[in-house]
Amino acid sequence: SLLWQARFFTTVNHLRDLPKTQIPEIAFAGRSNAGKSSAINILCNQKKLAFASKTPGRTQHINYFSIGGAHVGQHRKDPTIVEEIRGLLVDLPGYGYAEVPGEAKTHWNALLGAYIQTREQLTALVLIMDARRPFTELDVQMLEWFAPTGKPVHCLLTKADKLNRTESTNALRLARTVLNSYVDEQGKPFPFSVQLFSALKRSGLEEADDKILSLLGM
Ligand code: GDP
Repeated sequence: SLLWQARFFTTVNHLRDLPKTQIPEIAFAGRSNAGKSSAINILCNQKKLAFASKTPGRTQHINYFSIGGAHVGQHRKDPTIVEEIRGLLVDLPGYGYAEVPGEAKTHWNALLGAYIQTREQLTALVLIMDARRPFTELDVQMLEWFAPTGKPVHCLLTKADKLNRTESTNALRLARTVLNSYVDEQGKPFPFSVQLFSALKRSGLEEADDKILSLLGM
């Protein structure tokens, strides 16, 4: 997969530092511990591309990974070569850490909200939710911010290995029902898709890979 070429691009702490590019980007959002880093790593076939934030409130950044190119100086053979970067994966800070101090929480909520509502280069959102407890308050907040943009959302219901067949079917059905209730600015349903995923069992990998690449126009 093209995603296997993903490599670290940049880290951002403030909106003003977002990369000034024309490159389409797709953002991964999710509650802390939902399985976002595991999903990104497995999709990119790399062990430690995305890392779980072990120190809440301190290690939170927006991390960018590039696909299909290299920066100046990063090309393996010729450091003067700048290959064309075709897409960016954006790892948003996990939300919902109870222990994050109020001030940091406010800072990150504001940053996340502003980013997903206003970032023009953002083509789609991948919302990572634990299949056993989807649509927490902050997941809903993300959807309420993002749905009005009318851009597509792809939901990964992770840790699907913890569900049996009936629970899986029910989880998908519930997710579709909830997602159907959101509308864009014109009051039209916004484009969404949803799937089960397990980093542990590597299930749903191909579906997610296809979806992400197609959302990036690849
Ligand atoms: P993040 O905080 O959203 O980045 O979550 P992580 O990817 O760090 O995962 C949080 C915890 O859930 C870790 O202990 C992972 O091993 C576990 N985990 C992640 N994905 C899966 C999965 O598909 N199945 C199971 N059973 N556990 C998972």
